[in-house]
Amino acid sequence: MKSGIFCLSLDTELMWGRPDLPIWRQRAATVRPNIQKLLKLFTKYNFPATWAIVGQLFLPGDPLWHGPDIIKAIRKTPRQEIGCHTFNHLDFGRCPIQEADEDLKKWLQATQKQEIKPGSFAFPFNHVGHLKLLAKHGFKAYRGPAGHWFAPLGKAGEIIDSLAQITPPAGKPKQANHGLFNFSESQFYVSAWGLRKYIPLSSRVGKAKKGIRRAIAEKRLFHLWFHPINLSDQTGPLLAGLEEIIKFAKQQPGLEINNMEEMTRQLN
Ligand SMILES: [Zn+2]
Repeated sequence: MKSGIFCLSLDTELMWGRPDLPIWRQRAATVRPNIQKLLKLFTKYNFPATWAIVGQLFLPGDPLWHGPDIIKAIRKTPRQEIGCHTFNHLDFGRCPIQEADEDLKKWLQATQKQEIKPGSFAFPFNHVGHLKLLAKHGFKAYRGPAGHWFAPLGKAGEIIDSLAQITPPAGKPKQANHGLFNFSESQFYVSAWGLRKYIPLSSRVGKAKKGIRRAIAEKRLFHLWFHPINLSDQTGPLLAGLEEIIKFAKQQPGLEINNMEEMTRQLN
């Protein structure tokens, strides 16, 4: 890589992420307005992003579970890639290959009608699996896990990591694993619900800035990600923090800002 790269990806799933949680209905209801706010922000800064979308959203139906209007709004905004987050929010790390194959076929069927080609992929729960199958169906890249130091500690570790503003890892994208690029994640832009509400905004932003600086210094990739549903609590401050990160990134010489599709194209 000739320079550092900053990439943002968004796992977009409405109710499909946690259908078992009653509070998810409340949170899912905030997804539409918050996507509008994100798109406005991205337009203002000509900022690219990859939207990893659960295929069910392409179908019409209950607005908490489906959202062709969401897809339309994203596609109308420049430099926004429609990526895949499986059709049913299926755990590819744990399901049999047959089930994954059926799921991918449904995603492709739903998107083909809109002339969306398979490109980038984010795994539900970040559980990587069936890479050969992804390659077979035409996908080019995925977001792999970083193997964070705090992973064995669970949520508490994530909170400590945020509070301490530990510099996030920066990956080196390589074409491996059946010809797919792995654009491994660096930082989850944490929500402000539950105990996470005690994480000050400055920690989230400070950590991201450290990640960007590292990517520039090491000519690597800083890959930030979250779900639009993560903005349901303290929406205003979280969006302001994101804007601060975007502004900071835009001011850095030696940093390219690309979505996953743009990175794939450049590396090829
Ligand atoms: Zn998900």
